[in-house]
Amino acid sequence: MESILLLAHTEADGSLGKPALEALGAAVALGGTLTVGLVGATTQAAADQIAGCGAVRFLAVTGDAFGQSRYATDAAAAEALCRVAGCQIVIAAGSSRWARALPGVAFRLGGRVDTHATGLSAVNGAPALTRWFYRQRMEAVLARTQRPWVVLLDGGCVAPWAGTPGAAVVEEVRVEVPATRTTVTGYRVPEADQQTIRPDAKMLLVAGAGWTKKQSDGAVHAGEAEGLILGFLRRAQASLGSSKSLVDQSGEGEAVLSCLTHMNQIGQTGSTPRHAKGLSTCCHGEEPHVVGWRFVNQRRAINLDAGCGWARGKADVLYVADAFEVMRAVNALLEG
Ligand SMILES: Cc1cc2nc3c(=O)[nH]c(=O)nc-3n(C[C@H](O)[C@H](O)[C@H](O)COP(=O)(O)OP(=O)(O)OC[C@H]3O[C@@H](n4cnc5c(N)ncnc54)[C@H](O)[C@@H]3O)c2cc1C
Repeated sequence: MESILLLAHTEADGSLGKPALEALGAAVALGGTLTVGLVGATTQAAADQIAGCGAVRFLAVTGDAFGQSRYATDAAAAEALCRVAGCQIVIAAGSSRWARALPGVAFRLGGRVDTHATGLSAVNGAPALTRWFYRQRMEAVLARTQRPWVVLLDGGCVAPWAGTPGAAVVEEVRVEVPATRTTVTGYRVPEADQQTIRPDAKMLLVAGAGWTKKQSDGAVHAGEAEGLILGFLRRAQASLGSSKSLVDQSGEGEAVLSCLTHMNQIGQTGSTPRHAKGLSTCCHGEEPHVVGWRFVNQRRAINLDAGCGWARGKADVLYVADAFEVMRAVNALLEG
């Protein structure tokens, strides 16, 4: 097996996050001589965190300028680490930070980059990656002859490395801080309980357009719908997905759920999240939507219509019922 460089940036507290540990897990499992390259404001704690991973070298680019997510500094640090390590294979988490910087680094090194890898393995002694194409319909196994080969691994596909921490000897790689135009002044993120997209949640709740349609009493109950959905999310700590029809409605001036944006959309033109369980509510289950459920292991749906799309082999369990009634009862059970 060829030599491998695992590139990782530290989090705000100086540790390595789950995506970095997943990339490390993939690198260790691939075999070959492993070097770790760290980037951050401080890096010793991160190196100690993974001291037992079997790496032959721990390299680091350290300094305040490298603690911030910014193309110029991230690319300069990663390029320097790749040159010093001299490894043929470079593996990193597909974080927004690395996804922005590493394609440019691969170009500077005369190598190649592949993004959205879902796994790495040795095929006839050479590394190969798996990734999906055409909105997760086809899985390919890819190998390349160009080196260095930079691979960005998608989150949630590989078990994170879990080993004992220790005391790592870190070799500092000096990098001249490049001229920068971007100053990072801080982060704006929603309050934790307003954040409805939770990739690590065990459960996905999908809301469909039915929540905002006229119900059996001839009236729309969007306000109650929003209360039921948010109540369930809060109690179950689930992630919130939506059908396209529901998130598109805001543009049509119809009743909308204010907790949803296009970021919540699941499907062919939306996202393909990974959760252990999924519950679809008031959503018809059409193919362009259900294709986004590919990596949801157990699928259940609530729909008034016994002939809806979910009934045609797309859900493990279909409850033919009124989602308002069901979710009222489910929330009451969770409360009790
Ligand atoms: C190129 C292309 C790409 C697309 N990409 C996507 C995509 O990425 N994601 C996506 O979602 N769609 C996508 N679509 C659209 C998709 O085909 C469907 O139109 C959409 O998913 C329908 O949304 P829906 O099921 O929420 O709404 P509807 O089809 O209006 O279904 C509403 C459902 O709610 C049920 N219902 C109503 N009231 C209740 C109640 N009280 N209790 C229980 N059930 C109730 C009804 O029986 C009905 O089945 C795409 C379409 C195309 C052409």
